[in-house]
Amino acid sequence: MREGRALAGSVLLSAKGPKWNDTWDLASFDANERNTTHQQLIVLDLNGTLLHRTQKNNGVRKGYPRPHLGEFLRFALDNFAVMVWSSAQPATIEEMLRKLLQPYCTEFVRVWDRRYCELGGSYFEKATSIKDLQRICDGFGLDQSPYRDTYGKYSGYRGACAEMKGHWTIDNIILVDDTETKAARNKDNHIHVSTFGNPNTPRETRAPTDDELLKLKQYLGGYVEKKASFPSLVAYLKEYPWTEFRDLAAATKGADTLTDTN
Ligand SMILES: [Mg+2]
Repeated sequence: MREGRALAGSVLLSAKGPKWNDTWDLASFDANERNTTHQQLIVLDLNGTLLHRTQKNNGVRKGYPRPHLGEFLRFALDNFAVMVWSSAQPATIEEMLRKLLQPYCTEFVRVWDRRYCELGGSYFEKATSIKDLQRICDGFGLDQSPYRDTYGKYSGYRGACAEMKGHWTIDNIILVDDTETKAARNKDNHIHVSTFGNPNTPRETRAPTDDELLKLKQYLGGYVEKKASFPSLVAYLKEYPWTEFRDLAAATKGADTLTDTN
């Protein structure tokens, strides 16, 4: 199995958010989806889950990858189909993928943006957003989104490979997201991770100790090992709740530390 590699420490991001040019030239996500052999799909949020995108400060906005990001993505891509779904705008997402998730993002099967979410308010303002996983199973594409013409008449990537409609089942999709409300339609499918990059915490003190992605890798590794014993990925989540696993891992780590210092 290939090793995941460490990613950049921090990068500069566009302060205002770049313009959207109707192109996803990072990869052919359609082809990735068409060719995948995986039946289980992991849907990953970006900001707060895999990375931290700072607020604008003196005209500068930065992006920080979460510790162990490369290792986690390598593991996830080797064992599952992987999709990114962020409630950010497409240009912002593309920039985050290009600057913080290379080379892994070229292997994703889909990338969905704000246009695929259910919004509780206006598209260009802060609004609650929901990621309804059933849309993935239903073959939902950009044509069906009320926001399809947000950037003018869009003619690029539609967000779903038509040949794969019916390939994904709701029992084999999980959403990894640091915001509980995004999973309002699919609570049983949600792995609620802690938020990386609390702006009230200095980055220097929070980054080295954050091992959420390492724990998530261990947790999903448990499923990969015992896959045959479970009818579905969601059944694994139900039997072994993520939060219990994480808290136990934290407690065990604490006990190890205690032993080390004795
Ligand atoms: Mg988030």
